[in-house]
Amino acid sequence: MRKIAAFGLVAGLVLSSWAIARALTPAVWPEARLRALPGDFPPGFGVRRVVLDPGHGAPGNSGNKNAFCRDEQSFTLELAEELASALAQTGHFEVKLTRRGSELTPYAERIRSADAWPADVFLSLHSDVRGKAEPWQPEPNVTCTRSRAAPGFSILWSDQGDRAAARLGMARAFGHALEAAGFLPYAGADYHAAYAPDDAQRGVFVDRHAPSERIFVLWRPAMPSIIVETHNALDDREAQRWNERETRAAFALAVQRALAQALDGRPAQ
Ligand SMILES: [Zn+2]
Repeated sequence: MRKIAAFGLVAGLVLSSWAIARALTPAVWPEARLRALPGDFPPGFGVRRVVLDPGHGAPGNSGNKNAFCRDEQSFTLELAEELASALAQTGHFEVKLTRRGSELTPYAERIRSADAWPADVFLSLHSDVRGKAEPWQPEPNVTCTRSRAAPGFSILWSDQGDRAAARLGMARAFGHALEAAGFLPYAGADYHAAYAPDDAQRGVFVDRHAPSERIFVLWRPAMPSIIVETHNALDDREAQRWNERETRAAFALAVQRALAQALDGRPAQ
């Protein structure tokens, strides 16, 4: 009897310490709650011009299909429209989108119009595709592919030409703000030699494709440009989180924070 009581006591202690440890350990994205951290605009920041580029939606280029078979071009357009209004509402940004509705816009045209405006920054929004994709059925009679192997965001930039330092500052500010908000920085295993990780900020990668294959929107615009790979589209958990208003609101605040920092020339902190 005493043995049973002692066993019950030990089991109770183990269970309660497990519960305490679990409560104290923050869950990791894509399970974690996000933090809504507002931007900090220094005096004199003024009004800056932002081009938001909803990735894809170019002729013959609809992008990936996510774990629920949704086209990347539809996800990026919806995200860019929401982000545009959140940025405009701060009073610190004028925002233009590179495409609207069902129009198909070549990339060269997007960059020409950003140069002509001229914009202060060019942000291209995407979702990534990583990990070995396996077929699954998100609902009866619908087969898509998914992978939970490589979640997280990544920020891509190019060190080509004389705008490299401004692009790197922008990329690090974005990586820092997204990580601070609770988004998971992707570690880069699937990028192999195509992108190299930054040594100062997790989730930031420099383009290392052969010179003739380097990503056009990363090196061509006259203003600093980056690609934000918001998440792994093949990860059904991440895709679902990005359907939530809370996720997109935390993302919009992180973008404000990063722009406030990088456009003011301050290092990420
Ligand atoms: Zn894309």
